[in-house]
Amino acid sequence: MNNSTNRPARSAPAHALPRRRVLKVAGTTALAASAGVVGANLASASSSSDDSAGKGSYDAIVIGAGFAGVTAARELRAKGLRPLILEARNRIGGRTWTADFNGVTVEMGGEAVDEKQPYVWNEVKRYSTELATGVGADRYYFPKDGGFAPVPTADVIPRLKSLFSPMFDGSKDYFPRPYEPLYRADLLQDLDKLSMRDRLNQLRLSPEDESWINGATGGLSGGSSTRGAFTMLAQSWALSGYTFEGYLSINTYHPKLGTGQLLQNMLKDAAADLRLASPVTRIEQSNGRVRVTIRSGQVFTAPVAVLAVPVNIWKTISFSPALPSEYQSASKAGMGVPNVQKLWLHVKGDTGLFATNPAEGTRLGAVRPHATLPDGGTLMFGFAYDPTLDCSDPAVVQSELRKIVPEVEVVAAKAQSWAADPFSQGGWACRHPGELTGPFRAIQQPQGRIVFAGSDIANGWSGYIDGAVESGFTAAKQAVAIAAGTTAAAAR
Ligand SMILES: Cc1cc2nc3c(=O)[nH]c(=O)nc-3n(C[C@H](O)[C@H](O)[C@H](O)COP(=O)(O)OP(=O)(O)OC[C@H]3O[C@@H](n4cnc5c(N)ncnc54)[C@H](O)[C@@H]3O)c2cc1C
Repeated sequence: MNNSTNRPARSAPAHALPRRRVLKVAGTTALAASAGVVGANLASASSSSDDSAGKGSYDAIVIGAGFAGVTAARELRAKGLRPLILEARNRIGGRTWTADFNGVTVEMGGEAVDEKQPYVWNEVKRYSTELATGVGADRYYFPKDGGFAPVPTADVIPRLKSLFSPMFDGSKDYFPRPYEPLYRADLLQDLDKLSMRDRLNQLRLSPEDESWINGATGGLSGGSSTRGAFTMLAQSWALSGYTFEGYLSINTYHPKLGTGQLLQNMLKDAAADLRLASPVTRIEQSNGRVRVTIRSGQVFTAPVAVLAVPVNIWKTISFSPALPSEYQSASKAGMGVPNVQKLWLHVKGDTGLFATNPAEGTRLGAVRPHATLPDGGTLMFGFAYDPTLDCSDPAVVQSELRKIVPEVEVVAAKAQSWAADPFSQGGWACRHPGELTGPFRAIQQPQGRIVFAGSDIANGWSGYIDGAVESGFTAAKQAVAIAAGTTAAAAR
């Protein structure tokens, strides 16, 4: 695996891959050319006003320009429908966001993609996307005797493997078809009630052993292992091929030029009208049409709408008729985890390539090296789950990091709080205990002429970019059926 990207569950180190390895998936010749073309496409799309008919009427309206919405728009276009995309922010990408940190391209949200994630991997291949990996750490700091101790990278994986693997005993039985998570719903009824904390408790690990892995379960749950369903983690394990190595390796590659570049290529093929800075406030259904109102008061109509915003956001939109109670409760409970900040750090070179693995409850979560900088320093990324920690302040981050690596010097920092962001109100999706066997199936279903998309409600890699793409395909299929006047029920 590689530790260049990502979330705490994938926080173990990656010594297996060479540093700065670059993978070329299919050809890369289109890459340089596409950046310019796509930029032009985005610029013209963002300035587009109503549809060409001039009355705000489209074949389909897609709400949200993350990976789910853009996939849906592209697939609608492929079926001959003319889509409008309404996006709240002044950028596309949603919980992926390719940004700049002192001249270096970084991802403030999702970034890792893998061959075991077939939907996003197909997109990577389709657009000849160049992939890269980050640098590996030569030592890891794990909790020890009330403090932290460095552990050589080579010693880390065997111990983590022995701690993680028993957690998923039986997963081939209860998730035999990981893309159909409810295939053995009968075996999941009790298991799905467990939080990750419950499952840790069942393992009866020594305090030190537990401290090696509860930072990951706590982080994946958005700060506390009591929040996230154990089946969420177990499904990722199953999707990864039921092995520790498989699970770690999903964290290896990221698009070299950014997730934004991949998404722009997809958007270009959608040939959609895109309106940025257009948060949707109301969705009404009547007389065989959907009327969508944005904050400015402007109204757009279509026979069908794809709602591709995070589940956490559903509660901010007024629906007529109202959404059924399962949808409302899921949104109130929050599918995207609370309090996640992703941070990037410029660390002075003296401390070398280290990584941290604090236990659950630490203000600053795992921190990993990503690249060596021209001044000899290290570009590092990490996560924090304490909303009061100002991770964009290098002094604040340095003070927290020094509790683990005393001599570290943080030169600069950049952070994004996904919970504080009004258009996500949370980070990656992580279901609550009982949600999979409870309302999950219900909240995937279309309501009249509204179909739902988003990684949060994907069947497979929910909480990942792959899930967003998967759900975009499904939603487009459902929307086409509705637009054609047939039933959408069969599509999911
Ligand atoms: C810190 C972090 C790290 C992650 N790491 C990884 C990773 O390494 N690999 C991976 O595969 N996944 C990762 N993920 C998860 C991944 O980023 C998401 O699952 C995926 O991007 C979600 O895509 P989506 O299209 O479903 O939703 P979003 O990306 O959230 O898209 C929804 C869109 O809807 C828009 N919107 C919201 N409200 C409105 C409104 N009222 N009107 C109009 N538009 C609206 C939003 O602005 C947004 O553009 C990570 C997520 C986070 C937060």
